[in-house]
Amino acid sequence: MTYDVIIIGGSYAGMSAAFPLLRARRRVLIVDGGKRRNRFASHSHGFLTQDGVAPDVIAAQAGVQLAAYPTLTWLEGNAMDANRRDDGFTVTLEDGRDFSSRRLILAHGITDNLPEISGLQERWGQSVFHCPYCHGYELNQGKIGVIGVAPMSMHQALMLPDWGQVTFLPNGTFEPDAAALAQLDARGTALETTRIAEVTGKADVRLVDGRLLSFDGLFVASIVSPSSPIAERLGCAFDDLPNGRQIVTDDMQHTGVRHVFACGDAARAAGSVPLAVGDGTMAGTACHKSLMFD
Ligand code: FAD
Ligand code: MG
Repeated sequence: MTYDVIIIGGSYAGMSAAFPLLRARRRVLIVDGGKRRNRFASHSHGFLTQDGVAPDVIAAQAGVQLAAYPTLTWLEGNAMDANRRDDGFTVTLEDGRDFSSRRLILAHGITDNLPEISGLQERWGQSVFHCPYCHGYELNQGKIGVIGVAPMSMHQALMLPDWGQVTFLPNGTFEPDAAALAQLDARGTALETTRIAEVTGKADVRLVDGRLLSFDGLFVASIVSPSSPIAERLGCAFDDLPNGRQIVTDDMQHTGVRHVFACGDAARAAGSVPLAVGDGTMAGTACHKSLMFD
């Protein structure tokens, strides 16, 4: 049987995309690997009615509500490939099964790549963050370290003073010039140019000269990559930004590859749960419009 739509990725964006389609009684297959980007965090912030709720609780509630629609099929697993066939697509799962559909929605998200600093990855989402709006408030105006990965880290070093007393640690990734030093000074950000040996304790930084700097939280820019190569294989265009690549879409979340839509973090910079939900809703309605009219 041919589904109307296969949605690759069943997190906030993918589930939101499914709603308008299911409510129009279209046959939808969601394939989901279950690795939401925020699975490292114990609480999610800033989404209406769900502020402070655990990310997996939000996803589980949504899953229960979606499951009430009889035209939904949900498969756990990863899509490995997608190919255009006749007037639609064939999606191949990692277990080798093939499924076909008339439309495709890519909602597979992105993967965060952190710099290789001992102790950093295991604190990601607990005391090491990238988004001040998501996790800055809980630091209670305390001590914050911003770890540099590239010149773009200046952006975090200049933002975070709204959330606490900030020390910027470029960690040898670049030398702030006179203009950058003046900007840091104007925001009250301290500079520590000694390289980092490790992150330890809750959010403490051991420098290579042996000094230990204690922080309430650390921020670092992650370099992101698409969680699946399928968009590239289908010929979707990408925006290459300093912190990674995103699928290009129009305002209706259409990728420019006929009948392929994309939404959520895979298709926007600086994503969040509410933005993924909004983009997903647009992708689902635009996809339904294309099923009716083209
Ligand atoms: P994701 O939630 O990343 O989901 C993508 C889904 O697609 C996953 O289930 C994955 O397994 C699946 N998938 C990937 N590839 C395949 C494939 N080939 N086949 C099948 N399935 C696949 N945002 C907030 O609004 N508030 C917060 O407090 C917040 N905190 C965060 C904390 C951390 C540590 C991080 C890293 C992010 C945080 N975010 C927060 C951002 C938020 O996690 C993302 O914006 C959001 O998860 C994007 O939703 P999405 O549906 O686009 O992608
Ligand atoms: Mg977009």
